[in-house]
Order: sequence, then C-alpha cells, then structure tokens
Amino acid sequence: MIQLGLIGYPLGHSLSPKIHVAALKACGLEGNYSLFPVHPDDRQGLKDLFARVRSGGIAGLNVTIPHKQNVIEFMDELTPAAKAIGAVNTICLRENRLVGDNTDAPGFLSDLKQLIGNRELGIGNSKSSLVLGAGGSARAVVYALVNNGWNLTIAARRLEQAGQLANSFPACNMKTATLAGLRPSTFDLLVNATPVGMTPDTGHSPLPENISLSPNTMVYDLVYNPRETKLVKDARSQGLSAAGGLGMLVEQAALSFEIWTGRNPPRDILFQSVDP
Ligand code: NAP
Repeated sequence: MIQLGLIGYPLGHSLSPKIHVAALKACGLEGNYSLFPVHPDDRQGLKDLFARVRSGGIAGLNVTIPHKQNVIEFMDELTPAAKAIGAVNTICLRENRLVGDNTDAPGFLSDLKQLIGNRELGIGNSKSSLVLGAGGSARAVVYALVNNGWNLTIAARRLEQAGQLANSFPACNMKTATLAGLRPSTFDLLVNATPVGMTPDTGHSPLPENISLSPNTMVYDLVYNPRETKLVKDARSQGLSAAGGLGMLVEQAALSFEIWTGRNPPRDILFQSVDP
C-alpha cells in the first residue's frame, strides 16, 4: 500500500485526491491519497507527518496553502526549483533525506507548451510575457518562464510585492508595474496568477480595462474553478488561444506522482477524474 497525501489548511475543496487516486488505479498500484489538514500554527502537526515520511509510513506528500513556505525549515534538502521559487509543493524521502521539490513550475511549463503548440513566438528570440500577481504561484510561473528565455513584466496590485519577486531573479531584467499603472503594450503571453475570476467571483477579469489583448496574445489563467474564467472566455471570444489552470493542476500532480512512484500516469485519465 502506497500512502500519499496533502498538507494544507483548509482542504475541503481539493481536487488532488481524485487525481492521485486515478493515477494509482491507472498505474495498477494499491494505495491511498489522504488529506492532512494542519492548522497554520501547528508546527508539531507538520513534524509528526514528516516523521511518518522518514519512517516509510508515508511515501509522499503534497503541500498547499498556507504551508508551502512553512515546510522549508523541516527539509534536509531542497531541489534547485524549490530553492529558487522559495516554496515546496512536493515532499519525498531520498536516501533517508527529506527532500522538498516544486512541481508547479514544470507543471505550468508543460501545459503552456500544449497551448503554444507549433506557434512561432516573439521577434527573434525575444518572447514577452505579462504576469498578473506576485504571490506564491506567480513565483513558480516566473521561475518557469525566465528559465525558458521569456522577457517578463510582473504587475501586482502592490508594486512592492512585484519588486520583491523581480529581485528574487537578479540576473533577469524584469519590468514591474502596479495593475492600475499598467500601460497598453503588446505581449506574446498573458498569465493570470491572481485569484480574480475564481468562483464565486466569476464576473471579474484581472485584466485592467485600459489593457486590451492584441491579436497574437495567448492567455493562460491559473484559475481552474470555473473551468472557463471570464478572462479565458473574453480571450476566446476574440479568437485568441487561451487555457485555464486545470492542465497545470493535472501536470503538477502527475509530476509529483512520478517523483514518489517512478510511474508516469496517463494524463487523459487524470483529466477525466476531475472533468468528466
Ligand atoms: P497568493 O499567494 O495568495 O497570491 C495571489 C496574488 O494575487 C497576490 O499577488 C495577491 O496580491 C493578488 N491578488 C489577490 N486578490 C487580488 C485582487 N482582487 N486583485 C488583484 N490582485 C489580487 O495565491 P496563489 O497561491 O499564487 O494562487 C493564485 C491563484 O492561482 C489562485 O486562484 C489559485 O487557485 C491558482 N493556482 C492554480 C494552480 C494550478 O495548478 N492551476 C496552482 C497554484 C495556484 P495581495 O498579496 O496584495 O493580496
């Protein structure tokens, strides 16, 4: 029996159990994926779970809000991605060492590549992206994009937060702006990494009204509830390529599953488990 699970708080609406149970079944493995709600102040709760990983009782853990940063101090080692992003969403035991990894960044990138397809991007090698938001998921998105040659503008409602994120990647020359202060410009890619548009706030788009999408801009919205946000709907109604966040959710889960089990689960079955 492979015991897997998710640490976070609260965890009531998580789709991860459905995805991982489908992955276990599709790979012919016996196991469970449990929810481990740990209150934000409960350090002992985290320590107890990590003791179970060290003893082999738990084979792997995902981590979500509010613990993605909190768990770092308990790890023996971080992967380069987790270190650069400053957040852990996947924990495993490797050679008796507790390793913190981050599959949000490769999960996003893998799904983005599907959206891009065969399209030629940018002028020369210069591909430009506007990232809205500067919180936890924006950090993973920015890490993924800068490591793949994108030029970035980060826009957040607090300029200070956008600046802090840009300063985490000193080798990259990123622009920052407030959402309200964004000026019309053309981007190859717009990424929403804010919760704006998420249920129940489905009537809103994070895109400031003075910024319009140009004919070749692709749109990627990390929000997956609803499946088609206002931002994605507006983009598609203009004939633009746009994706919601379900693909990233499935990809990051599949990559975590592979880290724990060595098996690469079939994506179509994982999608069916959350979007029948
Ligand atoms: P987070 O760490 O709380 O960051 C949210 C960011 O959005 C912050 O910059 C925040 O600014 C900003 N923001 C919040 N409300 C806003 C508003 N009304 N207007 C403008 N900006 C606002 O959250 P996160 O973990 O990055 O998650 C962001 C979204 O991505 C959520 O909807 C989450 O479900 C989704 N997500 C999807 C996946 C996936 O696999 N598809 C993975 C991770 C996250 P302040 O700090 O000023 O509030």
